[in-house]
Amino acid sequence: GVRPLIAGNWKMHGTLRDAAALAEAVRAGAAGTGVELLVCPPFPYIHMVAAAMLGQRVAVGAQDCHAAAKGAHTGDVAAPMLADIGARYVILGHSERRADHAETDAAIRAKAEAALAAGLTPIICVGESEAQRLAGDAEAVVTAQLAGSLPEGFARAGGVVAYEPVWAIGTGRTPTEPDIAAIHAAIRADLVRRFGGAGEGLRILYGGSVKPANAAAILALPHVDGALVGGASLVAADFLAIAAAA
Ligand code: 13P
Repeated sequence: GVRPLIAGNWKMHGTLRDAAALAEAVRAGAAGTGVELLVCPPFPYIHMVAAAMLGQRVAVGAQDCHAAAKGAHTGDVAAPMLADIGARYVILGHSERRADHAETDAAIRAKAEAALAAGLTPIICVGESEAQRLAGDAEAVVTAQLAGSLPEGFARAGGVVAYEPVWAIGTGRTPTEPDIAAIHAAIRADLVRRFGGAGEGLRILYGGSVKPANAAAILALPHVDGALVGGASLVAADFLAIAAAA
């Protein structure tokens, strides 16, 4: 019943010219899809891409924000700035930020609170490492990450959870369909326990090596309400093919 969200995380790729071309190709292809489309460019390109998407069917988001609304935080970007330049979503707690910047669940919750205060919709990323998966701890890890990072008001704002097993990111490997379905069901149960009926309508995205070839099967699983796409979102035709599979 939930309208799927297909989100592209462009990560730290491309030039201004590449971003403009990719945005234009996604914009041009968006009319044919019934899903919600979102692109998350690197910070320097968000303003340009948001301007290109104004009044179009593609939302724009950021890949991070600071927990403070403003202040002496050299090199950081505040959530109100992102809202000001046309972003509507912000990805938070991506495993690459947890790894590169030692982001904790508590830090991610603080950023999510800042995002909500600025009117941005947070996309909170969770997911186990390969060692955690092999130890049988995937569900416990994800549940603990949710407990530590979901802010008050998340459900009211239509917050999004993205399940991204770390070992599936950029590797071409994905969990089995039953394994994806099991984690998504656990996330749903957690959201409903936490937020009541509102948790039923929140979107849970799968991310990690989503491609046109595997998108239909993954997106058909229960409680998979969209995808967070990395590498394949840099090729407009692939990103649009994934959207068409939803
Ligand atoms: P890939 O699609 O390149 O595996 O990346 C997934 C991801 O990290 C999206 O946030």
